[in-house]
Amino acid sequence: MAINTLVLDLETGDRLSKLQIAAESIKKGGIVVFPTETVYGLGANALDGDAVGKIFTAKGRPADNPLIAHFSSFEAARPYIKNMSAGANLLAKAFMPGPLTLVVNKGEGISDNATCGLGTVGIRIPSNADARDFLALSGVPIVAPSANVSGRPSPTAPSHVINDMDGKVDVILLGGACEFGVESTVVDCSKEPFELLRPGAVSLSDLRRFAYVEHHDAGEGQKPKSPGMKYQHYKPSASVIALDCPHEAAVGIINSGCAGTTGTAALVFEEFLDSAKAPLVLSLGSAKDPSQAAKKLFALLRECDLAGMGRIYAMCPSDEGIGLAYRNRLFKAADNIIS
Ligand code: AMP
Ligand code: MG
Repeated sequence: MAINTLVLDLETGDRLSKLQIAAESIKKGGIVVFPTETVYGLGANALDGDAVGKIFTAKGRPADNPLIAHFSSFEAARPYIKNMSAGANLLAKAFMPGPLTLVVNKGEGISDNATCGLGTVGIRIPSNADARDFLALSGVPIVAPSANVSGRPSPTAPSHVINDMDGKVDVILLGGACEFGVESTVVDCSKEPFELLRPGAVSLSDLRRFAYVEHHDAGEGQKPKSPGMKYQHYKPSASVIALDCPHEAAVGIINSGCAGTTGTAALVFEEFLDSAKAPLVLSLGSAKDPSQAAKKLFALLRECDLAGMGRIYAMCPSDEGIGLAYRNRLFKAADNIIS
């Protein structure tokens, strides 16, 4: 059943009163889309199991995929955490607020609906000012997954959330394009050694300056380390071919694969915009700065769908820094990886 969604643009007019309206909706058990520095989130009061349930319905999210709890400050999170280790505290001090989620032992309060009955909870303190003010005004922890229909590319711009969530949620707060464009780095700190569950803008080398964090590449047939890892993710309607090879070789594959086609797109680094010959060629920004590719990836996948493309070729950066996050999202979206 369609809901009458209130859409509020935080970039015009009285920002504070719009945040207040959204916070009131949360207190009354509503669900609210809000901007963060990673991607747009779909939030509910983490203490209210019925409100949390509405998130799963709006997204079509599998019931065993736990949600991350967001707080306006680390102090606000403390009462909901049990026995946080010294190493986890170091990571929190270094990277919170910011695009990092720490999975820690769960204290009392957060609904079991949000953590899917696990004894752990993912904690995040966004750095985005709109998100933090919204959290502070709401006065409760807010659980929020990405504000997309489950399985589709995450929303990183206002048009994406309008497209996916208008008519399904109580309030949509619009705050422009997201700074990082990929979801938070997730580290499991509930066991030793810590383990990277999802790469993001806080890179492995950033983390390892403060604590040892293991990373295992998810191989075929491996048991998922976190419930969310077993599901299909980030997929546009078009089929996606990831080109995990030298960029010159990728151009060759694009040019032979696109010859004579009309519905094929290529996502290439800007250094190759002239040499790639596809009906639709879109820029990932410079190969020297993979943060641009990470920021643009989900938006470009959606743009290819809107343009009616049936197939998308996409170049890859190396796995250094945020390149690991780009590769993780692209490979999950891909039907085929050519290396
Ligand atoms: P999303 O909310 O869709 O951005 O995804 C959140 C990710 O964090 C998913 O991969 C979840 O499985 C993972 N996650 C959230 N809470 C926990 C937890 N308590 N333990 C392990 N993984 C978690
Ligand atoms: Mg998601």
